[in-house]
Amino acid sequence: MSQAEPKRQIIWLNTIFLTVTPVLAIASTIYYGLEYGITWREVVAGLVIWSFTGLGITAGYHRLFAHKGYKAHASVRFALAVCGAAAIENSAIAWCSDHRHHHAETDTDGDPYNAKRGFWYSHIGWIFFKGKRGDAYDNVPDLRADPILAWQHRNYLAVAIGANVLFVVAAGLLLGNMLGMVIIAGLLRLVVVQHMTFLINSVAHIFGKQPWSKATTSRDNWFLSLFTFGEGYHNYHHSFQADYRNGPRWYNWDPTKWLIWSLDRVGLASNLRRSPIDMTLRARFDTSRDELKPRALARMGETAEEWALLLQEKREQLVDQRDQLMDSLREGTEALRDRFLSAEAQAELYLQELKSLRADLKERVGLSAAGGSDSERKLHQREAKRLRQAIKRTHAQAMQTMARWESLAKEFLAAAPSPQPAGA
Ligand SMILES: [Zn+2]
Ligand SMILES: [Zn+2]
Repeated sequence: MSQAEPKRQIIWLNTIFLTVTPVLAIASTIYYGLEYGITWREVVAGLVIWSFTGLGITAGYHRLFAHKGYKAHASVRFALAVCGAAAIENSAIAWCSDHRHHHAETDTDGDPYNAKRGFWYSHIGWIFFKGKRGDAYDNVPDLRADPILAWQHRNYLAVAIGANVLFVVAAGLLLGNMLGMVIIAGLLRLVVVQHMTFLINSVAHIFGKQPWSKATTSRDNWFLSLFTFGEGYHNYHHSFQADYRNGPRWYNWDPTKWLIWSLDRVGLASNLRRSPIDMTLRARFDTSRDELKPRALARMGETAEEWALLLQEKREQLVDQRDQLMDSLREGTEALRDRFLSAEAQAELYLQELKSLRADLKERVGLSAAGGSDSERKLHQREAKRLRQAIKRTHAQAMQTMARWESLAKEFLAAAPSPQPAGA
């Protein structure tokens, strides 16, 4: 919406309806659940009517009317036109006209629910505004010529409201509990079926895989298929629009495809269109080839020199790492060696000191024995005592230092790798 463009007229009926119904549905369901409790009757009726109206859109509006994926008996076309109208997503002619524009001009301004304008616009926002093309319906002449669809278009509101009243009242008469049916099988179911369709326009153009084509934003989203009667395989659908299947494999959850197949079995449908397997496989192959081949070839085209450069780079990194390791090891052993040698020198000093202290003591003892005055003898004895104390102290220090030196030597010898014998 960032582009400058003329302001589009808001359709207030749509805007109010689509804003009020979800709020009303959720609030009244909560109120009803708390006040009366929800039973299996409302749940079953809700699921059944959801299936009828949902399949009216998927098997009817989408795959039969918009894409002509198969032919159906008039009774089936009528039933699908009524059920589809009950989803309140516009008449089949209007819905299919928008949808054909969506396919013809996907992701452009001509696409009514252009996913490039963001989640909210493609989900619901587009319905709030008057379409740019007006209501020409010039891309659905075949549908306008169909008497059932022309009738449905002329009487759309009556059919839509009538079918909803009919379904809900029938459920109420059959299972009882009219109020619960109105809220859950009526209102809540309507909001669910509408938003499941909207999710295909929004989420199925944002989240999922693109195995069949990357030309549009469409995605295959199996999870979405679980709630949309198989419409989640949207990337396949954009690639093979006329295929009556959206999930082509037997294990793809696609109840719409199973319904159409069953109708064919009982003679109510015919001419089921399947895209040829070689075409679908070709699309799949081309899509992954477009993505992978340039990248793979670019890597494969790297020359021997480039690989050699890469290896050289790796090798230099490893050499750097090795040098760093060696440096730290060298630093470690050098520090150890310093401590070892300084301990040795310290021990040597203490031993020298001990030697000279002992010589001093011997001299004092000799002088003391040689006699002299009283005061002289006392001085010699005091000195001798001091020297004995110093010898004791220095002896202890020398012992400590030598023990440290010895343990350094032993620890180092125990931890250091032994040298390889020559010639081994
Ligand atoms: Zn689409
Ligand atoms: Zn389609």
